[in-house]
Amino acid sequence: MGIRLVIVDDAPFIREVLRHIFAKTEIEVVGEAVDGEDAIEIVNRENPHVVLMDIVMPRKSGIEAAAAIIKDFPAMKIIACSTVDQNSMVMRALEAGCCNYVTKPFTAEVVLKAVRNAAASISKEAGI
Ligand SMILES: [Mg+2]
Repeated sequence: MGIRLVIVDDAPFIREVLRHIFAKTEIEVVGEAVDGEDAIEIVNRENPHVVLMDIVMPRKSGIEAAAAIIKDFPAMKIIACSTVDQNSMVMRALEAGCCNYVTKPFTAEVVLKAVRNAAASISKEAGI
C-alpha cells in the first residue's frame, strides 16, 4: 500500500527537502501546506494517512492545526517537526494528539522511518 502524506511547513526550503526525501519511495506526497489553516484545508481534501506538521507557522500553529485535525480524523497520524530550540513545544504537540516528532535539521533516514512507523501503526490499530 502506498502511504499518502501531506507535508506542512511555512519554509519553502524545508518542503523542497522533504519532497526530495520522499521521491522514489512508496510514500506519495499528496499535498503541501504552508501554515496551519492551509493544513486543515488540505488534509480535509486529501485525507492522507500521515501528516508531517511543522510547529511554528504563521496564521495557525502546528499545535492548533494538529488538535483540530485529530478531532475530525482520530485515526490520522501526525508527526510534529520542530527545531531543537522549540523542544518545549514537543510536549504540547504530543498532548495535541501528534503520534511522534522529528527534530530539524533531520536526516532522510529519520524522516522516512517516522513516516513508515506512523503508517504501520494505522494498520496495527485497525487490526489489519
Ligand atoms: Mg516554521
